[in-house]
Amino acid sequence: MTSSRLKKNVKNYSLILGIDTSCDDTSVGIVYKTRVLANAISSQIELHRKYGGVVPGLAKRLHTKRIDFVIEEAFKLASRIAKKLNLKEKITWQEIDAIAVTYGPGLAVALEVGIAKAKELAQKYSKPLIAVDHMEGHLLSPLVANAKGNAQIVLKRYDFPVLGLLISGGHTELVLMSDFGKYQIIGEKLDDAVGEAYDKVARMLGFGYPGAPVLTEMAKKGNPQKYKLPVPMAHHENLDFSYSGLKTAVYYFLKKLNDRGVVLDKKIIRDLSASFEYSAIKELQIKLAAALKIYQPKIVFAGGGVVASAKVRAGLRKISRKFTTPIYFPYNAKLYQDNAAMIAIAGYFKAQRGEFADLNKLDRNPRARINIKT
Ligand code: ZN
Repeated sequence: MTSSRLKKNVKNYSLILGIDTSCDDTSVGIVYKTRVLANAISSQIELHRKYGGVVPGLAKRLHTKRIDFVIEEAFKLASRIAKKLNLKEKITWQEIDAIAVTYGPGLAVALEVGIAKAKELAQKYSKPLIAVDHMEGHLLSPLVANAKGNAQIVLKRYDFPVLGLLISGGHTELVLMSDFGKYQIIGEKLDDAVGEAYDKVARMLGFGYPGAPVLTEMAKKGNPQKYKLPVPMAHHENLDFSYSGLKTAVYYFLKKLNDRGVVLDKKIIRDLSASFEYSAIKELQIKLAAALKIYQPKIVFAGGGVVASAKVRAGLRKISRKFTTPIYFPYNAKLYQDNAAMIAIAGYFKAQRGEFADLNKLDRNPRARINIKT
């Protein structure tokens, strides 16, 4: 690309730097339109592990300590890629058109770190600010293209409505997207999020924290039909999700075994992991099918940490095939988890709509809900 073309794009807010500190990952992404040039993530998992969960004060301290380094890392990565693709010799603050930052939902003290840093940089380098809802990032993550610009899908007018299924450790929701920026939550968790249930059951099985990936591995070798566990919301007509009943069923099952003096061997653990995952996915399948039937979307987008499970993706694909509605997941595993490239992409689309934040008014909203503008 020639520098004159890049200059023209600069005016169009093409190069966006995104920051996400909503939970326990410090992340900075740099995108060129929907192409990821950098998606730097500094995970804090190792330090929270010994507490068995995310400790907000510790998350804040670590975000504060690491954010400058992660920003530097993102610039290095983006520069390397931009040079390799002949986009630009180097990417510095001068080339960045706007700064996108997550304002919620998430941990208040953690969100504050990213927002304060975004404000500081916006002032220092005179860049406009874009406030992004973390869930909008997950929702749009299947649109993320690789650095070369290969995208799985580019949304066209006739592709709407799009149905989003967002599943992670903190969220389980169905979002109807009638256009960019126009979202409606049509179903959500009533208690535990699906990823939270995975982690809690994993802990009961002694897999430590976060144990969901271990549980998923164990489930691969188990018999999903071995133990009949409940699918809590199967017979409810609405689109809401519940996972605490399934988690409790596993708890009582383990208690019963313990009372009988049964030692948990590998076979029981594998079968129980597989049976749990079977019910957990069944709930997602039932709600996805119901939403497809009621709203008849043209496309399904699925995002969030739980799509990292191949079985979850296969289970959702099965429903999408049944309804002949294509489903898209993010193109790589890094985009399943919390990351700032997805925040930068959501920011890119907001910038095209001229939706910038007021530096003096921008504040965190730990309980933010994806914009409802239909
Ligand atoms: Zn998330």
